[in-house]
Amino acid sequence: MSKRAYNFNAGPAALPLEVLERAQAEFVDYRGTGMSIMEMSHRGAVYEETHNEAASRLLKLLGNPEGYKVLFLQGGASTQFSMIPMNFLTEGKTAGYVMTGSWAGKAIKEAKLIGEVFEAASSKESKFMNLPDLSNLKLPDNAAYLHVTSNETIEGTQFKSFPDTGSVPLIADMSSDILSRPFDLTQFGMVYAGAQKNLGPSGVTVVIAREELLQDSPKHLPTMLRYDTHAGNNSLYNTPPSFSIYMVNQVLKWIEEQGSLEGIEKKNQEKAALLYNAIDNSGGFYRGCADTGSRSLMNVTFRLASEELEKQFVKESEKEGFVGLKGHRSVGGLRASIYNAVPYDSIKALVDFMAEFQKSNG
Ligand SMILES: *Cc1c(COP(=O)(O)O)cnc(C)c1O
Repeated sequence: MSKRAYNFNAGPAALPLEVLERAQAEFVDYRGTGMSIMEMSHRGAVYEETHNEAASRLLKLLGNPEGYKVLFLQGGASTQFSMIPMNFLTEGKTAGYVMTGSWAGKAIKEAKLIGEVFEAASSKESKFMNLPDLSNLKLPDNAAYLHVTSNETIEGTQFKSFPDTGSVPLIADMSSDILSRPFDLTQFGMVYAGAQKNLGPSGVTVVIAREELLQDSPKHLPTMLRYDTHAGNNSLYNTPPSFSIYMVNQVLKWIEEQGSLEGIEKKNQEKAALLYNAIDNSGGFYRGCADTGSRSLMNVTFRLASEELEKQFVKESEKEGFVGLKGHRSVGGLRASIYNAVPYDSIKALVDFMAEFQKSNG
């Protein structure tokens, strides 16, 4: 077998080896058709079965709540930053955003291009190293929705719970932690995620929303930017990213095999604890960036005493087969993205490497 890297990439990110191997096994002849899934019509029965299977698996993992629909879209989570206000932030309304860091900031920037926006809460004062308390939010009567970013991929923070917004739809960008733990979908009007962190390869964006939010988009909107177009056509209005959706289906099947979301959550907690303990028990050699209570189980951000030493850490880690440990260019430092598909053994290897590095440089 070829050697697999210790992959801590932030996105696109590690995929389960079992999924890659299964995809490889049926790559050139999918279900006896004599074709790969990439070579067949998206209107044919074989493709449609896979497409529908992916959507129903996803809802099943979330407990099959009534009245929700899955869409498979393109343009990444970044396009959702625009589609959400275009579809919901209509004349006379205002949209609430919780400002928690880099990705929330990008979502706000797009919404401001479309309509009136207010910051419902912010952790700017702590440089986004903790999360604001959302338990006593006051939302105006004309609020179109409240938008939160469940996991800030760059800063390394993650909400543990979500506010009750009453009749105002709660919308969450879950790009970097969707399906990393169980959550109550019925608390949300909509959740969305680019697939390339926790769901599969890049190229598809998953939207799960209450059906009533996916009807009656404003009349002036272009066809492709309307939720009602995609909802009314089972995400087959135009050619979908068929291979990416096929891969998402494989990843969902793999999640089922891990004990579904409860099983995945337990593994994620063990993985994160191993790494955070190594940081916290290093006598200050490694320092976690996010406040303890706001720490992400998906993106672990940490620093060393100097940028020089951080550079050396990255360089030596790469020699030892570790990939993706450099922090995002906007914040610096180090980051290990430990999504669902990153095996415990990779984190064990990283913790061992960190101890060795400290011994030689501490
Ligand atoms: C990666 C990421 C995005 C951007 O996703 P694209 O698919 O590249 O547009 C948005 N939000 C969060 C939280 C992310 O981690």
